[in-house]
Amino acid sequence: MTPYKQIVLEVTEACHHACLHCYNFWREHRAPVMAPDTLTRVEIRDLIRRIKHDAPLKQAGLSGGEPLLRDDLPGIVEDLRKEGLGVVVITNGTLLTRARAGRFPEDTVFELTLFGADAALHDRIAGVPGAFEKVLEGAIAATESRCRVAVSVVVSGLNAHEVRRALELGIALGSEGFLLNRVNFSRCTAGQAGLLALTVEQFRQMLEAAELVAVEYGASIAVSVPIPPCVVDPLPYEHLHFGWCPRGSSEAYYTVSHNGLLRPCNHSSRILGDLRTHSFAELTSGRAARQFWAPIPAECLACEHPLASVCRGGCPAASDECYGTRLRWDPLINIVNSGVQAASV
Ligand code: SF4
Ligand code: SF4
Repeated sequence: MTPYKQIVLEVTEACHHACLHCYNFWREHRAPVMAPDTLTRVEIRDLIRRIKHDAPLKQAGLSGGEPLLRDDLPGIVEDLRKEGLGVVVITNGTLLTRARAGRFPEDTVFELTLFGADAALHDRIAGVPGAFEKVLEGAIAATESRCRVAVSVVVSGLNAHEVRRALELGIALGSEGFLLNRVNFSRCTAGQAGLLALTVEQFRQMLEAAELVAVEYGASIAVSVPIPPCVVDPLPYEHLHFGWCPRGSSEAYYTVSHNGLLRPCNHSSRILGDLRTHSFAELTSGRAARQFWAPIPAECLACEHPLASVCRGGCPAASDECYGTRLRWDPLINIVNSGVQAASV
């Protein structure tokens, strides 16, 4: 038995938004909502059953693309809950009308994205006019349908100043918890570093705002995308929950592409194998998976920070996507150190 309790299922590549920071490696060439090789509802249920033979799965994140583009998503959620899984729908939130929300089982968790409380800024980052208003309506529709809401605040240089207002808005909307995710670079977004990267000052501004909200409101805020301590030391922000790359440990969230291909996580485009022809245990314990997580970046070998052993260079998938190797540290570090010069990435 492998130890994995969570998995991400990308149920479609399609998305109707054009977020500036989108890391989807297929973002320039999205398949339609249901491509010929997209797993059907039944295939997803059967795949999960097979994975459950190999792993004590407890939670599935349904992602994409935009999962709410699939009309059969409520049925997929129902199936997975019957399989005993907690389900989180990871969505931009704008398609969550009252009619749609009412089709989901009670207690379905919707993880909605907010970039702040400034409608124009939110819409600019999402690339869609009117998105902000629709996310708010979506959050209200979810809670009125007895579903639950969590808010993910994705932070770039464009909205670092909006973190406090985003979190407070989330609290007003009934969010039960927060993810505070700094932009994570990929091949598609590295060229936009001049626009998207946070400075060290902006990282501090973001974390200080979140720390205050955590203290004042008792909000649970997870800083999920790792921030290497050589960029900003997390130790002073003691009410935030900092995440580190699980690197194939029991906390890993292996990710299933819309067509059943398995990847190390949602940020990585590396294919570990095909779950339609190989078992989850085979693929997660195989050579490709072990080799993916093994490297320690050369820059980190002599690191003496007390968190070095958990940091180990930040996000290896980001290094892999931007540099083609996990032997270099997270591209974020060079971007920040170079004063945001995209050409050096
Ligand atoms: S392990 Fe590497 S990335 Fe992390 S703090 Fe040390 S030098 Fe920075
Ligand atoms: S490689 Fe990066 S995105 Fe993937 S699990 Fe690790 S930190 Fe998260």
